Amino acid sequence: MKVFKFGGASVNSADAVRNMAQIVQKHLESTPLVVVVSAMGKTTNLLEKLVPGSSDITSTKELRQQLEEYHREIASSLMPENKEVQHKIDTLLSNLDHLCTSLPTDVEHLNYCYDQVVCHGELLSTTIIAEYLNTLGINTLWTDARQLIKTDNHYREGRVDWNATEKEIKNLEPSIKNSYSIVLTQGFIGGTTDGQTTTLGREGSDYSAAILAHCLDAESVTIWKDVPGFLNADPKFFHDTVKISQIPYNEAIELAYYGASVIH
Ligand code: ASP
Ligand code: MG
Repeated sequence: MKVFKFGGASVNSADAVRNMAQIVQKHLESTPLVVVVSAMGKTTNLLEKLVPGSSDITSTKELRQQLEEYHREIASSLMPENKEVQHKIDTLLSNLDHLCTSLPTDVEHLNYCYDQVVCHGELLSTTIIAEYLNTLGINTLWTDARQLIKTDNHYREGRVDWNATEKEIKNLEPSIKNSYSIVLTQGFIGGTTDGQTTTLGREGSDYSAAILAHCLDAESVTIWKDVPGFLNADPKFFHDTVKISQIPYNEAIELAYYGASVIH
């Protein structure tokens, strides 16, 4: 079993999703695959501004519109004929709208509200991508990570309940091994035992992939990025970066410590 993770930049447009699907397709033969996906592009940043009681005063109406158009356009570019996916997007957006008007706005509930709202980025991305992979003929099981990654109720930084998580994830094994070509789930989000949504902290999807890999005793975790590998500097800021083909763990940790988000 292998775990793949695709971050926001790897699924930020219809073309990026097509590229991701090609990567998945190429690896289908070798071993069962579990695929973890983040919210598309900068969706989490946008959703943060829609959280009731958040201090940001940017026009929420405009942002809500932007969120909808962005996801609908990607979905219709990938699957012009597919009404079912637009219907699923409707359902998720109505749920989001309902939360945005009904959640409490006081400071004490801010972290709780944050998690109930921002999880929609990953729910939208994985819903669209699962539909697309199935359209391509890749037999994909969409799974709700909130039922798999069980956490305590520290909203915005849920701490993993390892026993409960391992039990839930192990239940997935027959589907992964026998029935489906891939199991697709959300990074970043988890759930409490009483059914509330939690998140694992910003940029938490790599962690989700690692949790799944650990509990499934996977042979590897691959964090697919929009760079060719480990570089000696951030290519967003430097043109002449050099790829590092091997690096000892302690130096990798040092890189992470000094801010290389590639290995959060
Ligand atoms: N979507 C979340 C974030 O932007 C999680 C992740 O991308 O890892 O922080
Ligand atoms: Mg990310």
